[in-house]
Amino acid sequence: QREPIRATQAAEDASADSAAENEAIRITDLHKSFGALEVLKGVSLTAQKGDVVAIIGGSGSGKSTCLRCINFLETPSAGQIIVNGEEIKMRQDGSPVDRRQIERIRTRLGMVFQAFNLWTHRTLLENIIEVPVHVLKVPRDEAIKRARVLLERVGLGDKADTFPAFLSGGQQQRAAIARALAVEPSVMLFDEPTSALDPELVGEVLTVIRDLAAEGRTMLLVTHEMKFAREVATHVVYLFEGRIEEQGPPEELFGNPQSARLRQFLQTVG
Ligand code: ADP
Ligand code: MG
Repeated sequence: QREPIRATQAAEDASADSAAENEAIRITDLHKSFGALEVLKGVSLTAQKGDVVAIIGGSGSGKSTCLRCINFLETPSAGQIIVNGEEIKMRQDGSPVDRRQIERIRTRLGMVFQAFNLWTHRTLLENIIEVPVHVLKVPRDEAIKRARVLLERVGLGDKADTFPAFLSGGQQQRAAIARALAVEPSVMLFDEPTSALDPELVGEVLTVIRDLAAEGRTMLLVTHEMKFAREVATHVVYLFEGRIEEQGPPEELFGNPQSARLRQFLQTVG
């Protein structure tokens, strides 16, 4: 015979459900080793829908590895990853149980890399429609129409038929952002999107990212641009040697850092 559910319990369950519904990403106790080198030593973080989570930290602290584990560009060694309420099924050793689940989840995560990673033998338009047409089976006409809107949005409306090599780094990165947006991702993952750019081209890319943040898009953003992180992030995570050393709202993390390591880091990055 079952206990009747108390009203308070039901209310608690309902609010737990709606809290979970609001979560875009939840990572719990993520570990990753490359051979004997343990790069992530138990990272847990949550991004609510609409959050902009900035991940900062020194070179080699595990920032890229953390992002890459979320879409399984790296296989975690252990831990739990939940994307939009869906837990990625992993074996004991972190390997995925179901490749198709990974592929499906990956299409909902728009990843933008440091090095643009556009297909060099395709025009910008072709770059943008590739995944929508061939993976998501969006009709080609429809995909082209949307791609043109996206190119317009990132200020490249007149470059649809241009090949990447004819564009500046800033233009290529804006095209890469348009390509990531073309799958209508629920979360955008940015890995140092401006660090390969000449200084005078950084601003135009940050402007695009700032607009996406203002739209309420959920993003995880690895960046060395501390001023920018402070401006757009809703939450900042400081990684040190594969662990979260400190995290919190930007005003607190940048304005009143608690950890000596973080204070030192902020001094060195200016
Ligand atoms: P960050 O992005 O914070 O600079 P990374 O996540 O790229 O740091 O790297 C963290 C550590 O993991 C570094 O010591 C790096 O050399 C190592 N690493 C990253 N990828 C690999 C790999 N594929 N094989 C071996 N070591 C790796
Ligand atoms: Mg990196």
